[in-house]
Amino acid sequence: MGTFVFILGLAFGSFFNVCIYRIPRGESIVFPPSHCTHCNNRLKFYDMIPVLSYIFLRGRCRYCKEKISIKYPIIELLTGFSFLLIYLRYGISLNFFKYTVLTGFMIVIGFIDFYTTDVYTSSIIAGMIFGSIFIIINIFLGHNFMDCIFGAMFGFAVIGLIILISKGGMGAGDAEIAGLIGIFLGLKLTVTALSLSIIIGGLTGIILVMLKKKSMKDYFAFGPFMSIGAYIAILYGNEIANWYLSKFML
Ligand SMILES: [Zn+2]
Repeated sequence: MGTFVFILGLAFGSFFNVCIYRIPRGESIVFPPSHCTHCNNRLKFYDMIPVLSYIFLRGRCRYCKEKISIKYPIIELLTGFSFLLIYLRYGISLNFFKYTVLTGFMIVIGFIDFYTTDVYTSSIIAGMIFGSIFIIINIFLGHNFMDCIFGAMFGFAVIGLIILISKGGMGAGDAEIAGLIGIFLGLKLTVTALSLSIIIGGLTGIILVMLKKKSMKDYFAFGPFMSIGAYIAILYGNEIANWYLSKFML
């Protein structure tokens, strides 16, 4: 089952590559079918096997020999391992589906933000629709669903507040991402995810400034750090929150 989840992750990673490439260009993610972005030749199914095609083709297009970016197989592998770890943690359960869906959105939104420093509202809306579906499922199952609504409101409000206070340190897109995380993770895990992303993002910023890769005035995308924070919260959020509460609150 783990192998199956991993391979499914690779296949989704391949789809996420299409999303990451096309969404910022305003192209449809379903049409036209996959093609070489250099020579426009339509790719055959055997050109699109995640990771393996890249290895067999030695990282070049079969038709025009243009170099294919290493980021494609890397994002496929990243997705495969991300899905596998969620499976190992939650088995096949409602949480497994909820967290792999969120992870998918976090990979696509995080990488697009990393490459373009933009967050596309279309991807946030798509995520919110999936989040709402999980809320409806929870209502049907008689589970607590208000937590997800509080989580979304908290995420949106707290990053919104930081935007107001810091006057442009973060963008409106960051508040949208935080709201999206909230609707999937609920209040406690959202607090954990955002705290982690601020800590990891802050440390990375300090290191980049010290290494003189960035100056204090440079803009750097916060979205990828929210993706990392959300993913850590998915795997270990409860333990981290309980540890923090027992250490500092009691
Ligand atoms: Zn080509």
